[in-house]
Amino acid sequence: MQFTAHEEFFTFHDPMQNGKLIERQTEIRFDPLTGESSRIIYDPGAPFTPTDYTDLAKETEGAKCPFCSENIFSRTPTFPDELIEGGRLVLNETVVFPNLFPYSKHNAVVRMCDQHFVKPSEFTAPMIAQSFMAAHQYLQKVVESDAETKYASINWNYLPPSGGSILHPHIHVLASERPTNYQATIARASEYFYKEQSVNFFSQLVKTEAELDQRFIGSIGSIDWLHAFAPKGHTDFIGVFKAASFGELTAGHWDELAESMLRFLQYFEMIGIGSFNLGLFIPVDANESERVHVRLVPRFTSGVLDTSDINVFNFLHNEPLCLRIPEHTAKDVAKFFRK
Ligand SMILES: [Zn+2]
Ligand SMILES: [Zn+2]
Repeated sequence: MQFTAHEEFFTFHDPMQNGKLIERQTEIRFDPLTGESSRIIYDPGAPFTPTDYTDLAKETEGAKCPFCSENIFSRTPTFPDELIEGGRLVLNETVVFPNLFPYSKHNAVVRMCDQHFVKPSEFTAPMIAQSFMAAHQYLQKVVESDAETKYASINWNYLPPSGGSILHPHIHVLASERPTNYQATIARASEYFYKEQSVNFFSQLVKTEAELDQRFIGSIGSIDWLHAFAPKGHTDFIGVFKAASFGELTAGHWDELAESMLRFLQYFEMIGIGSFNLGLFIPVDANESERVHVRLVPRFTSGVLDTSDINVFNFLHNEPLCLRIPEHTAKDVAKFFRK
């Protein structure tokens, strides 16, 4: 396993230091599995500040929100009875229904709880665990009814900076025989890695990172957490499940994911992050080369202009920028895993 980085230095006169000639560093890092590069920017920058959605929450709740209790069973679509008897899957406050405008062959929305706006500090472990359990139950029905299903994912855009279009907490569940770019890249690269090295990339990653102790964060039950060497965001937490595919997932994994999330939410609150994207990637077929894994990246807007954190480099160059040194982030967040 190789962790390759190149440093580049840029020389210029700095007006903040009386025109002194200085060198400033950029670090280009290559993902040990895919070879894709990311850039570490050594910019102290302004501290992150979360957007406050309290007022917008009051304006959008209740009658105006399709996911609030008065609307959830009348304004959301239903599945055909052949897939889900009664049309919706209900697990306590969690409700699973079809996405009105799907972007996959199978695409459900999981409304997580009754409460319209849940602040990061208000999430509870059962709230998160039950939502992922409900997503799991939906995927179980899909896999049983559609034998072609090969790729599944559970996706969370928390609040508008991350792409969330409704404040009411919800997650998106996708399944299809066709992968997304990310799923295809990981499947191809990990299969190649397995053929070349005769070892599972993800097992090797966890083992190597635990030994190096530079980016390893901690383990919650059967989920091992580490920071990506070549991050896709300003922080990029990877959770590797001790499960290769869908059939090995159990309710226990969701309790462990929920426990992990509460710790990351505390860390995000400490550094001023109030929004995030989470992607949980689930190979459907049993296999030697992959693992179920999850990635969690922070999202935010900045300054008085509400500037987006995604720009031409991320979007068109496909080159993630990272304002935080991964090894420092890993040390800081690891403290929350020792409590
Ligand atoms: Zn609502
Ligand atoms: Zn959404």
